[in-house]
Amino acid sequence: MKITKHIQKATKPLFSFEIIPPVKGKSIKQLYDNIDPLMEFKPPFIDVTTSREEFIYLEKENGLLEKRLTRMRPGTLGICASIQNRYHVDTVPHLLCGGFTKQETEYLLVDCQYLGIDNVMALRGDARKEERRFEKTTDGHEYAIDLVKQIQKLNEGSYLHEVIEITCDVDFCIGVAGYPEKHEESPSMKSDLKRLKEKVDAGADYVVTQMFFDNQKYFEFVKCARAAGIQVPIIPGIKPLATKKHLNLLPQTFNLDLPETLVEAVESCKNNKEVRQVGVEFCIEQCKELLAHDVPVLHFYSMGKSDNIESIARAIF
Ligand code: FAD
Repeated sequence: MKITKHIQKATKPLFSFEIIPPVKGKSIKQLYDNIDPLMEFKPPFIDVTTSREEFIYLEKENGLLEKRLTRMRPGTLGICASIQNRYHVDTVPHLLCGGFTKQETEYLLVDCQYLGIDNVMALRGDARKEERRFEKTTDGHEYAIDLVKQIQKLNEGSYLHEVIEITCDVDFCIGVAGYPEKHEESPSMKSDLKRLKEKVDAGADYVVTQMFFDNQKYFEFVKCARAAGIQVPIIPGIKPLATKKHLNLLPQTFNLDLPETLVEAVESCKNNKEVRQVGVEFCIEQCKELLAHDVPVLHFYSMGKSDNIESIARAIF
């Protein structure tokens, strides 16, 4: 079922989360171990991320290094299929511009259709770790809006190449990313919102935000988005802070500010067990305030161990 339909049908805010495929060579069991405890909170959908191919260096017998491109966390669609089969919930595979040609994207969409996947998240992807800026893949898309347009065209029955006879309807519900604290490459919030509006006008049905820790930033973002004419659901993306390293890592990686109260509380922790607890308590208060403001869904970034999300969900749902 479409995410927008889940939201329309809901009588109370929904709980959902995003998972990351395991590193190549690891079992899917570790993923299930993290998902299992969260199923009690009845997520109507689970997002599965896609990772770009990155350069790795392999040492050859002669001692020289060989540079190769590899995807360390493949299997997004396979995981979506396994989850749908095991838990009977909808899954949302993330589709990227970076690393995929338009043709490969179309093949993925055809697979999604066969697997009964109704929702996809259309994203540009980040630059590779070695590259200073995002480089468009040959025959791929430059911006997420181009991916949205491709999916929307398919929804309207238009494939990249002539199809002799189309006998089945495709109708994907399309999610896109939004940034309450602005995307790092964007010159201004106004410009970033203009780009978001363009994605929605091109066919995006809902927005999921980048993680944030200051609810005022989300409230302001939603207000400005509505003023800019964006009327689709804007789902807050939430991540409980879990380690001391996050104090530097999260602001640097996701272009966000951490509230001073949270920073001080984390700095005074003796170890990461205490930090995890501080992160949970902060997040519970954050979620309560969001729920008081009628958010449609609380969408959690799980990124590995999910015990903290379980504690938060238990406190608020
Ligand atoms: P876009 O919407 O294309 O925007 C990128 C930048 O370009 C922005 O600064 C925007 O303002 C600007 N822009 C947009 N259109 C134009 C235009 N026409 N001309 C000029 N500038 C323009 N990354 C992954 O690799 N895998 C994932 O699974 C993944 N999941 C994510 C899920 C969510 C909910 C979020 C918020 C992010 C996720 N990301 C993921 C990260 C995302 O790929 C990066 O944030 C990326 O840098 C931007 O992606 P986007 O889809 O927002 O890009």
